[in-house]
Amino acid sequence: MKSVTLIPGDGIGPEVAFSAKAVVDALNLGIEWEIINAGKSVFDVSGVLVPDELYNSIESNRVVLKGPITTPIGKGFKSINVMLRQKYDLFTNIRPVKSITVRNRRFNDIDLVIFRENSEGLYKGVENEISDDEVHALKIVTRTASERIIRAAFDYALKQGRAKVTLVHKANILKKSDGLFLGIGEAIAKAYPTISFESVIVDNMCMQLVMNPNQFDVIVTMNLYGDILSDLCAGLIGGLGLVPGANIGSDIAIFEAVHGSAPDIAGKGLANPTAMILSAAMMLEYLGFTHEANKIKRAVATVFASGIGLTPDLGGDGTTETFTKVVIQNL
Ligand code: ATP
Repeated sequence: MKSVTLIPGDGIGPEVAFSAKAVVDALNLGIEWEIINAGKSVFDVSGVLVPDELYNSIESNRVVLKGPITTPIGKGFKSINVMLRQKYDLFTNIRPVKSITVRNRRFNDIDLVIFRENSEGLYKGVENEISDDEVHALKIVTRTASERIIRAAFDYALKQGRAKVTLVHKANILKKSDGLFLGIGEAIAKAYPTISFESVIVDNMCMQLVMNPNQFDVIVTMNLYGDILSDLCAGLIGGLGLVPGANIGSDIAIFEAVHGSAPDIAGKGLANPTAMILSAAMMLEYLGFTHEANKIKRAVATVFASGIGLTPDLGGDGTTETFTKVVIQNL
């Protein structure tokens, strides 16, 4: 029996999180869920954004499936998503972007994986108000964090038989900070002679991805660029409802979709739970249930191939609930 923490989240979070839970439960793996929420909906009721109970649960289970959390807008509230990644030093953010449907898509056969540095950069949130008219934001880049994300990307490429790692940066302007990241990448690449390596400036990368995404395989980049490129890549394969993600540290991991809480469609049954279901598959893989994770991926692929039951973001007339049922039928 493995116990896992489930954070339903805000907005469409509970809809997609319980969809993913239902798919995992249908496999009868003996996974026990500790369901504890955090975020805006909890704050509105209790005045606390993250209850201590949640920290205790994460620290005891060490594996988490998490819906998107909304952080109330206002001074003093740091993003809970970012805070959890930093608190538990979940330095590797892995976001596989794989073509799954012909609907809404711009290209066929995209199969790339984004490795996003998850612990520093501008996401450290170091901002100084110099005056009412001037604010400085500090971009923090360290050798330790850069080395571990770049190594993780190369190790993944090696293990998964991937051919190329592309490092994305802006070292032509940010010569010292991005220059450090790039220099570390160039040095690490030498230790992986069987994997080809290239570096691409982030603005050019956006253009290249939109023109010809199939040239990319594994992408490794800094925190903010990784965030932006993830949404761009989601757009290439059909939308935000399709891209899963994993935040992995040395012994704690949080699995979550790339998308946010999408308050515009919350509570209407319109949310596409695919990203969350595939995040749950990544979680099962992490837990050693590789066969079962593949079952989920195959079931999702079958549903997409049939085109039946898809959610409205993909032009279908299904709901979060009916889509989930069809996936479970195809397990
Ligand atoms: P947050 O501030 O929590 O990041 P957001 O609304 O700014 O939320 P997202 O939640 O990432 O950003 O979503 C952007 C848009 O993409 C949403 O308004 C919604 O229309 C669409 N979207 C996101 N996720 C899904 C999903 N799972 N299914 C369908 N549409 C989605």
